[in-house]
Amino acid sequence: MLPFKLVYHEGYDLNLGAHVFPSQKYRLVCEKLLADGFASQDDFLRPEPAGDADILRVHTAEWVKKLQTGTLSLSDAMKLEVPYSPELVKAFWLAAGGTILAAQTAMRDGFGCNLGGGFHHAYPGHGEGFCAIHDVAVAVRRLQADGSIRKAMVVDTDVHHGNGTAAIFAKDRSVFTLSIHQQNNYPAHKPASTLDLDLEDGVGDEEYLGLLLPAVRKSIANFQPDIVFYVGGADPYREDQLGGLALTLEGLKTRDASVFEEARRRNVPVATTFAGGYAMHVEDTVRIHVNTVLGARAVAEKHVRTQPTGN
Ligand SMILES: [Zn+2]
Repeated sequence: MLPFKLVYHEGYDLNLGAHVFPSQKYRLVCEKLLADGFASQDDFLRPEPAGDADILRVHTAEWVKKLQTGTLSLSDAMKLEVPYSPELVKAFWLAAGGTILAAQTAMRDGFGCNLGGGFHHAYPGHGEGFCAIHDVAVAVRRLQADGSIRKAMVVDTDVHHGNGTAAIFAKDRSVFTLSIHQQNNYPAHKPASTLDLDLEDGVGDEEYLGLLLPAVRKSIANFQPDIVFYVGGADPYREDQLGGLALTLEGLKTRDASVFEEARRRNVPVATTFAGGYAMHVEDTVRIHVNTVLGARAVAEKHVRTQPTGN
């Protein structure tokens, strides 16, 4: 049994067919964790869709209504880059509910893993790049609203810049946003994160980790977040179709575990989400996401969260 919960719902699958976004990966990750004996059914929690009140802490009423009524403009649909369907909307609400649940269990257990989410390109009033609802921002706002946390940090390792995250929290000093990404890649407009690590094309394991880990260490030490949200992109992988970096499977595994270690050694809870992954072979994307869970397990076994006394 894992020392933390995995959050998953079969409705995460966006059912996109032959789309470059392999949304069946959520199910494949879940199946692999079970088949390889890394997890059992007892490790899983099934999220509810986020409530509209939670979504509306981040998104505009107009955007929510467009999604719920299927009235996206042509421009909205083009920016979103995934075909609209009611199932798609349900999947985004579920992913947001899943990231809230993962964050809540992280506050209790030290880690909580949503086997989905990380939709970091979503803005308050529109969607972009396969992302309609910003699940991580919704979870940050929910935990702040119910008093569970004051300060949050988002560590975004997707190969694409976390533009939605940066825009949502631009003027908010309670949320530290860190994005490490390929500079010469989508999105064209990259609003400033609290800390942006811009990488040249073709950067490999050593250079990547040499930049990321000291930055994470220093940022956590200085900012002292109450929780870290980890957006674990699989797309810095060298065989990714939408990425231009050159990380190996081993490098990505080291990345995840090392970021987790930086947070947990200071007793900061970590909620993980997946984000992008477009490897030539979907099994590689699945392996990278499974390794994120295994990295969490390895670090969790080293650190037992100190519970505050009393209730
Ligand atoms: Zn990406």
